[in-house]
Amino acid sequence: MGQITAAPGAEGAGSLIRTPVNLLRNVIFHKFTVYSFSSSDEGPRQNAASRSHAGGVLLERLLRCSSMRLERPGPAIPRSSGSRGQTRVLRLQGSALTGTRATCSAGSLRGARVLVTGASTGIGEQLAYCYARLGAQVVITARRENVLQQVSVLAARRVGVKRSSQVRPRSRAVSGDSPAPGGPALGAQKALYVTGDMATTSDPSRVVKFAVDELGGLDYLVLNHIGRYSFSPWSGDVHHVRGLMEVNFLSYVQLASAALPSLEKSKGSIVVVSSLLGEFPPTPFTAPYTATKFAVNGFFCTLQHELAMRSSDVSLTISILGLVDTESAMEKVSGRTRVVPYPAGEAALHVVRAGSLRQKESFYPWYTHLVCLVRDWCPFFRDVIIRNSYY
Ligand code: NAP
Repeated sequence: MGQITAAPGAEGAGSLIRTPVNLLRNVIFHKFTVYSFSSSDEGPRQNAASRSHAGGVLLERLLRCSSMRLERPGPAIPRSSGSRGQTRVLRLQGSALTGTRATCSAGSLRGARVLVTGASTGIGEQLAYCYARLGAQVVITARRENVLQQVSVLAARRVGVKRSSQVRPRSRAVSGDSPAPGGPALGAQKALYVTGDMATTSDPSRVVKFAVDELGGLDYLVLNHIGRYSFSPWSGDVHHVRGLMEVNFLSYVQLASAALPSLEKSKGSIVVVSSLLGEFPPTPFTAPYTATKFAVNGFFCTLQHELAMRSSDVSLTISILGLVDTESAMEKVSGRTRVVPYPAGEAALHVVRAGSLRQKESFYPWYTHLVCLVRDWCPFFRDVIIRNSYY
């Protein structure tokens, strides 16, 4: 966080005059954004489908170039002693043409205090591994204790991790010297888990309190969990919609509210994992889920403005994801959509990077940004895309 830099004026003008002008300008002058990520490790459960999708790379860079909005430099992350790990470099450069420049070293996440929700499976699990690889101190949460324990063991593996002596009910600390199943070494300085059910009104605050107490503060709150839903026409079940709203939306609000005082102190970040379905005009078969994601996007976009208006140092990133190959998503859409899923490990990396760069909005994979542009510019194509995406 502390190594992010932005040229003066980049924030205001860059975020107001958005995509079309920048995109066109960069196409004309061939000044594409160059970004690179070098890390030799593969996450323990990185999907074999972690292919590069080369065809989309150029376009993705174009879109990224047009959408990158730079924030003020982030605060320094406290580094705890004994945190020397392998150096991995995460670098993102702004367009030379716009005179902006942003660099972010992954080393800046070393020692960062991170709470990731919904981290027992899917993208949340991959997020935990990403932060761990970058040497952060991670608290993960979800409902299933046995799965959380496995993830935290993997995240902390083979590192001289401090073992927390304090074992609280329904929470555990896992140290790097714990025996673990095979897999590449990660590097969390600290990996703790705490179970919590986000359908209740008490657990969101309890989980945040646990993280703040155990880590001595908080630098990143990563909101990622979602409740169960099916990919089918709405059955008329109002009770399910209400329950899903509680898990997917209201608990996000509660978690953010509980974490904000600590994030204000640390000049930290809220990172919201959201979906294209919360941006794009409604698509069939996901009415309750789509409603919750629209609520999330609406609430947190508004909060972004309010934080900016009161000159808060807390950054808020909303990451818009397309179809990702998590087990739960694949179960739902298998045989029902033509949309190609992208790897969860890459999606997680994208989210970590966007949060670390304090971007306001980020899109993964590349086509999600294009789809959002088409939504507003070409309603005819929008409808064609929607109707041809599902069987
Ligand atoms: P997932 O695999 O279904 O994981 C959901 C996580 O939430 C699990 O860790 C689950 O763990 C936890 N969870 C469920 N109910 C909970 C509750 N009541 N309280 C606390 N935790 C609960 O989801 P995913 O596919 O990785 O998606 C992660 C995020 O990415 C979501 O915000 C989703 O909207 C977004 N996204 C995903 C896709 C995609 O195609 N996968 C696309 C766009 C956006 P427990 O069961 O142990 O509680």
